[in-house]
Amino acid sequence: MEMEKTGAGVAVLSAKEAFEKLEKVGEGTYGKVYRAREKATGKIVALKKTRLHEDQEGVPPTTLREVSILRMLSRDPHVVRLMDVKQGQNKEGKTVLYLVFEYMDTDLKKFIRSFRQTGQSIPPQTIKSLMYQLCKGIAFCHGHGILHRDLKPHNLLMDRKTMMLKIADLGLARAFTVPIKKYTHEILTLWYRAPEVLLGATHYSMAVDIWSVGCIFAELVTKQALFAGDSELQQLLHIFRLLGTPNEEVWPGVSKLKDWHEYPQWNPKSLSTAVPGLDELGLDLLSVSCCSLTNSF
Ligand code: AMP
Repeated sequence: MEMEKTGAGVAVLSAKEAFEKLEKVGEGTYGKVYRAREKATGKIVALKKTRLHEDQEGVPPTTLREVSILRMLSRDPHVVRLMDVKQGQNKEGKTVLYLVFEYMDTDLKKFIRSFRQTGQSIPPQTIKSLMYQLCKGIAFCHGHGILHRDLKPHNLLMDRKTMMLKIADLGLARAFTVPIKKYTHEILTLWYRAPEVLLGATHYSMAVDIWSVGCIFAELVTKQALFAGDSELQQLLHIFRLLGTPNEEVWPGVSKLKDWHEYPQWNPKSLSTAVPGLDELGLDLLSVSCCSLTNSF
């Protein structure tokens, strides 16, 4: 069989035969996610249904390659584990893939929200542990040459009991149809997007993930998004207002980027104005996530 030769391990048994869907738990960037029970073992898993490119029949080799990358990365304890991949067909006869992941009971977005609702701060020890796990997971991905490109609290799954954090939604960006919007009316969030991506850079690096890590760090401290823009322009203006409007001197090449325009001129402010609860060492660490960006140009 062609698929087995690729080594991506796409199983022959259909998802319907192997799993009992329990309920929809989320709507990801690339498709619906269900909590499901594996019939053979009784084990609870997360089943992610992903649509493939519409004009293609079967599973393209590029997708199989992506799935094997995902499998390889999910060996890391801080990346959500991909346990299996099953192929199926939707009502229109189009090929769909079911990615079978270990089930995690919450995510960082919900976790932060629960603290916001009760008015409590997230304990510094918890923030340190979550950040450490996030950095370990990202280091593992970067060490294998893979960028996440869309890190955000919603994509960081957690186990409430053990406080384990695991990175999800990895490496799918190239394999599956790139979404403009979610299936629901929620627009894709720009809040964690690095300025070079917002400015239309075509060559970007690990710094785009480190930018997102910094935004997530600040949000853990304040329980509010650091830069909450509702359009690409607004997102850039939020960033420039805090970090200063970039120019050729601090960021060589910035004015050559595809979506560069003239922007209002702001001077950089201290990060402590945006993240007042953070101590000196924390602010120093946070500043690294912006430095890595301008140094990369
Ligand atoms: P994603 O496609 O990864 O953005 O997932 C969308 C939503 O589905 C997430 O916010 C989670 O609520 C849920 N989800 C995704 N993966 C899992 C998983 N492995 N375990 C439990 N819930 C998940």
